Amino acid sequence: MKFKSINFTCQSCGAPLRFNPIANTLQCEFCSSKESIETSLETIQEYDLKNALNSLENSNTQEINKEVTCNKCAATFTMNPYSFSANCPYCDTPAIIDFVQEITPKSLLPFHISHKEAQEKFNKWLGSLWFAPSQLKKFVDGDEKLKGYYLPHWTYDADTTTYYQGQRGDIYYINVERETIVEGRRVRRTVKEPRIQWTPVSGYVNNSFDDVTIGASKTISRTILENLTPWHTEVLVPFNKKYIAGFDSQEYTVGLDNGFELAKIKMNRVIEQHIRRAIGGDQQQITNIETEYKNTSYKNVLFPIWTAKFRWKNRTYNYAINGQTGKIVGERPYSWLKIAILIGTLSSVVGGAMYIDQHPNFLKNSYHQLKR
Ligand SMILES: [Zn+2]
Ligand SMILES: [Zn+2]
Repeated sequence: MKFKSINFTCQSCGAPLRFNPIANTLQCEFCSSKESIETSLETIQEYDLKNALNSLENSNTQEINKEVTCNKCAATFTMNPYSFSANCPYCDTPAIIDFVQEITPKSLLPFHISHKEAQEKFNKWLGSLWFAPSQLKKFVDGDEKLKGYYLPHWTYDADTTTYYQGQRGDIYYINVERETIVEGRRVRRTVKEPRIQWTPVSGYVNNSFDDVTIGASKTISRTILENLTPWHTEVLVPFNKKYIAGFDSQEYTVGLDNGFELAKIKMNRVIEQHIRRAIGGDQQQITNIETEYKNTSYKNVLFPIWTAKFRWKNRTYNYAINGQTGKIVGERPYSWLKIAILIGTLSSVVGGAMYIDQHPNFLKNSYHQLKR
């Protein structure tokens, strides 16, 4: 499919404008002129989920071969099938084209963290990776690898009523006679031992969910997207192409229906905690849960994310930075030499090798997070 791109042009010198996260304006990189983005008075709307699911013609997302003609240099290039904005590979001018999916983003969180800040955060994060191989730090330097994306997310609201059945466990103590040896002699003693009494329980809990966010892109792994949360959706602004000028912006590849199924999993975790509190007692067993979802609504939004990949010993590692809050999440390789030294040091002092044996997550957990 053929597309013609648009871009924004500097009033002073005619060069292309890009969104500047620090100034929150468009800016000319040639003469530095700024052009403010008009504040929209439009309120951010929620859309009825049931209506949307019934009227969607195609729940699958369409992968379209995009032949884009650059508005600036007239060259034609192929854009990523899910992108609707990218920079022209010939003249680097932002190229923004029309949407192809049925549901378009109506709001977004503008980038707040600049490319320079993102690079600094990454370097700091790398420096804090105590286990990372020393040469890695040199190897991944170079900011051309770091790229800014506006990635699609669904947000879901729902009021839920959940019927549950289960058991409440109350601990009580009984007196038991036990034989023990005291100073070489057999002695009978009465000791208290705990028992649990289980009582069948059932009931209802009500919950209300606002903006449960689900990543709708496969450009970054779901694990990384989840770890980039929270997103402060209370400061969403109405969609405006000026915010995406210069960034790679994408449409959803996870459908509205599949996104809601993922949102239900997140909601269920909260509902289950609520049920446990409602059951009370010392222990709880939940044997049956039936949830009704009411007043369901959704939004299709774009969230700003800086991301890059690096290769180390034939493996690719990803990291990403929340472009709103600066939170960084990434995978990292481990230096086994450094770990071996650590184990040696700990075991000579406090038997730390035991600690590592018993806590394999200490080594296996490859997600390292650093909040701003
Ligand atoms: Zn200019
Ligand atoms: Zn061009």
